[in-house]
Amino acid sequence: MLDVVNLTHTYGNGPDAHRALGGIDLSVPEGQLVCVVGPSGCGKSTLLRSIAGLVRPTGGEVRVKGRPVTATPDDLAVVFQDYSRSLFPWMSVRDNVALPLRRRGLDRAARRTAAAEALAAVGLESAATKYPWQLSGGMQQRVAIARALAYRPSLLLMDEPFGSVDAQTREDLEDLVLAVREHHRMTIVLITHDIDESVYVGDRVVVLTSAPAVVAADLRVDLPGPRDQIGTRELPAFVHLRSEVSRLVRGRPEFSMTPPHITTPSHIDKE
Ligand code: ADP
Repeated sequence: MLDVVNLTHTYGNGPDAHRALGGIDLSVPEGQLVCVVGPSGCGKSTLLRSIAGLVRPTGGEVRVKGRPVTATPDDLAVVFQDYSRSLFPWMSVRDNVALPLRRRGLDRAARRTAAAEALAAVGLESAATKYPWQLSGGMQQRVAIARALAYRPSLLLMDEPFGSVDAQTREDLEDLVLAVREHHRMTIVLITHDIDESVYVGDRVVVLTSAPAVVAADLRVDLPGPRDQIGTRELPAFVHLRSEVSRLVRGRPEFSMTPPHITTPSHIDKE
């Protein structure tokens, strides 16, 4: 479904140039949910925007279904973190969800049906005629997810989609993404800074190094399904994997279980 080949990207020129991506290689088969984690500012969003055709990379290539990405592919949807800026405040929830479906060539009745189905899938059928600003943050993000679902993309990209909602809503939205993936067999690439989340929702966790980012590790998540917010997070395999990802993100893969060395502060030595 997705191939990222030796992708590099540098922002700016000359002494102010910032090399964000240092050569990323990544292949995602159809139906897989891949989480991408890495240190803050390492280039996760740059990678996602390059896949979406929103950033033209300096080097390398992105292919979706074998075709090089030069502009945003038709069969792709993106859910951004900032839901407040991704929904149109002057449009009802239903119209927000139905809007991109014009690109699919659906008539008005078909657009309304698809929007109603997607809103039902995220538990918001009763909010269809409301406006985004009448909803809580978590509900607005569900509208953004419904809009992506209604479009029925083969590839769904999510950039820190639950970063601005409370912990309970975040867990509900994680389970919603898992349900959607199960139901629609979509391929999903989800960027997150939350290591627990990456292990909980991912089939696979790709860890990036700090900038210029390359793939530091590509870990398969072998946890039994269906996943459960309490039971799954208690499993020894979950705890082990989240620790491994955490060490990799911090750049300490060689970490052992021995306690850190206790050093004597220099001012005590002098006394
Ligand atoms: P992440 O998503 O991992 O936090 P980003 O991809 O957003 O990282 O950014 C990677 C680096 O590139 C950061 O240092 C950021 O400041 C820089 N950057 C991102 N967008 C731009 C831009 N449009 N112009 C210049 N630098 C940018």
